[in-house]
Amino acid sequence: MHFRYLGNSGLKISEITYGNWLTHGSQVENDAATACVNAALDAGITTFDTADTYANLKAEEVLGDALAGQRRESLEIFTKVYFPTGPKGPNDTGLSRKHIMESINGSLRRLRTDYVDLYQAHRYDYETPLEETMQAFADVVRSGKALYIGVSEWTAEQLRAGHALAKDLGVQLISSQPQYSMVWRVIEEKVVPTSAELGISQIVWSPVAQGILTGKYLPGSPAPEGSRAADDKGGAQMISGMLGREELLRRVQDLRPIAEGLNLTMAQLAVAWVLQNDNVAAALIGASRPEQVAENVAASGVTLDQDVLTRIDDVLGDT
Ligand code: NDP
Repeated sequence: MHFRYLGNSGLKISEITYGNWLTHGSQVENDAATACVNAALDAGITTFDTADTYANLKAEEVLGDALAGQRRESLEIFTKVYFPTGPKGPNDTGLSRKHIMESINGSLRRLRTDYVDLYQAHRYDYETPLEETMQAFADVVRSGKALYIGVSEWTAEQLRAGHALAKDLGVQLISSQPQYSMVWRVIEEKVVPTSAELGISQIVWSPVAQGILTGKYLPGSPAPEGSRAADDKGGAQMISGMLGREELLRRVQDLRPIAEGLNLTMAQLAVAWVLQNDNVAAALIGASRPEQVAENVAASGVTLDQDVLTRIDDVLGDT
């Protein structure tokens, strides 16, 4: 496993990081969740990402149980705040000081830890003054409950404003967590250049496009049994937009000879691809089975040369 610095901080994280959205506490039984976490640890992953909203609080609990007994100093544990998790009272959502302060305590309890390494704003809150949000995050850091601050799916302008306020408050906003894969490249235009300028890294989610880039979804065929798209607990809904695009699925199949020519699986090619971007600190993978973790982690350290990158662009075009 290779490690990268997160933003301009001294924190190193495993360049392949394990996340438990849609799996722990939902699609996957607890034993299988623990097996995936153990496979991640065996493969050298030290960085784990979750959110209070995943499986409505259960994902944090399952991850906390699976990591119990591990040496805390050897792990980087990340979680997020923003979405409501239980009763939808007026203060149960967003990035107000009240919601942040109450949410961090619940997350630490469920994760069975005294602190998280990174506390992330899961989305931008258009209703709370950014000054209030950043002050609350800074106070969470000062209280020792989080070491660093990150955000998720913020625009370049929002990153710039949040970063400046954090700096004034003496805390580090070091990461952005956006969707990024061969078939979802929106961040390249503004978020990546702005982040690079500010010393912020990307921790990119869905690097295999929720399974699409493994090549297992074939155009015109039903989703394979046991896959996220066939799952009835919520996953299918999230992936269905891409599954409806037959041309995309056809082109993905054309990536197979490129992967095979490099002795990689298609999943490994997809994970390696996001890691070629210097502003990416980690590919944030999900898995429903331990074998997927072992397979995908082998992408760590793989270099794709310019010729390969160009062939991939040619295959996918502007899909
Ligand atoms: P991926 O793109 O890695 O998709 C993971 C899923 O793809 C697996 O659960 C599995 O699903 C399938 N898969 C992965 N590898 C293989 C393989 N080798 N062979 C076959 N199938 C495979 O990422 P996710 O969409 O799971 O997201 C990863 C993490 O990113 C989340 O856990 C979360 O931490 C974070 N995230 C953050 C968001 C944000 O807003 N900040 C939003 C979404 C995710 P199956 O076996 O069921 O088909």
